[in-house]
Formats: sequence, structure tokens, C-alpha cells
Amino acid sequence: MIREKRIQLIRKTLVNKMEELWSNAEITLARMKKAEGTLADPFDMAVTESSRFVELACRSREIELLLDIKETILRIDRGLYGICDSCGRLIHEKRLCIEPMSKLCMDCQEEKEIQNRKKNGNWAMRGMSHQHG
Ligand SMILES: [Zn+2]
Repeated sequence: MIREKRIQLIRKTLVNKMEELWSNAEITLARMKKAEGTLADPFDMAVTESSRFVELACRSREIELLLDIKETILRIDRGLYGICDSCGRLIHEKRLCIEPMSKLCMDCQEEKEIQNRKKNGNWAMRGMSHQHG
């Protein structure tokens, strides 16, 4: 089926993205190692510390993304990809194209966002997110 072909294509894209993220992470690590112990000036030290903090923050986001991608690839391999985690229905292909790593169908995602908003008491955000015409 065409759906299956498209899923394989998404898988390929995800694998590429994962490799790209890994090599980025390695470059960051190498740079951090190089910067270590080369600066003695307190001001430089502070700058190094803060830039290291930024790098670490970026890296943890990258790692989170990496884990998401890995999980998605696993789901593809197990034949679970494109099936809603919550209701078990097929996720629309259009949605998968836009958000390849979504685990919920549109309805469940919306439901979840409403629940989240309720939990956070953040009703001010209501209506500001995507409204399709
Ligand atoms: Zn669902």
C-alpha cells in the first residue's frame, strides 16, 4: 500500500535526522573538551561557563529529540507507527506529513491539549493556536 511506502520514506528521513543530530552532538562534545583548561582568566571562565550552559541546554533538547526520533523508528519497525496511542485509530497521513513523530490522532491531540490547558489553568492561550479554515 501507498501508506506503507510513505512510512518507509518517513523512516528514512528520521534515520538521516538522527545521524545528523548525533554528529552535531559529537562536535559539541569535542569543542567542550577542547575549551576545558585552556582559559584561566575569571572573566573568560565565566563566559566559558555560560556558553557551556547554553550548549548543554541545547544538547539536552537535541537528546530529547533524538530519543523521540528513535522511539518513532521503533514504532515503525513494530508496525505501530501512525496508530493513535490513545484511541487506536489510524492517524491521518496529512498529519503524519506535517508532524512525523505524532503519536496521537488529531482528535486525541486536541483533547490532550484541552486537558493540559485545564490543568495549567492557562485559558488565556485558548483560541490562539491553529484554527483551520
Ligand atoms: Zn486518537
